[in-house]
Amino acid sequence: MNNETLLKNLRNVPDFPIKGIQFKDVSTLFKNPECINIMVDELYEMYKDKGITKVVGIESRGFVIGAILAYKLGAGFVMCRKPGKLPADTKKVSYKKEYGTDTIEIHTDAINEDDVVLLHDDLLATGGSMAAAYNLVQAFNPKKAYINFIIELTIEGLNGRAAFSEDTDITTLIKI
Ligand code: AMP
Repeated sequence: MNNETLLKNLRNVPDFPIKGIQFKDVSTLFKNPECINIMVDELYEMYKDKGITKVVGIESRGFVIGAILAYKLGAGFVMCRKPGKLPADTKKVSYKKEYGTDTIEIHTDAINEDDVVLLHDDLLATGGSMAAAYNLVQAFNPKKAYINFIIELTIEGLNGRAAFSEDTDITTLIKI
């Protein structure tokens, strides 16, 4: 894995969006052609033999590499979005955040029982948002669902993997 290049190019923005948060800004990876290649090529190698038929990107940073990866895998791409953005019938799930609740949606005709799904987002922190997306995808009863993040945050005692049952298939490209 060529993690050094990704780590070197990832921008850390202190105190964004609120004081005390070290924001990992993947826009500096997305704007760099070498980093795009590394991320997509590594992910392609990891998932090319899994029979993935749909990549589900989590709004919005999960759309970028998710869509390129779908193209490379010969899979379809599905958007998991915030409420009110998808125009047709949706399945939705609400989940608790630190303050209040959030909802995410997927079109009801986006995934079926023959699909092998890869959910993708930029970063694993507490795991709350991806756990909700994973549960939502499971409601479509796919053959199998995998999860990937570009970055896994383990600093500040975060253990995002605890949001998932032990048998959940999760990969990450870089741990910080
Ligand atoms: P969580 O549900 O706590 O795992 O949060 C993951 C989502 O929040 C991802 O979509 C990230 O884009 C965003 N996020 C949370 N913490 C950070 C951080 N320190 N830097 C960048 N993005 C973050």
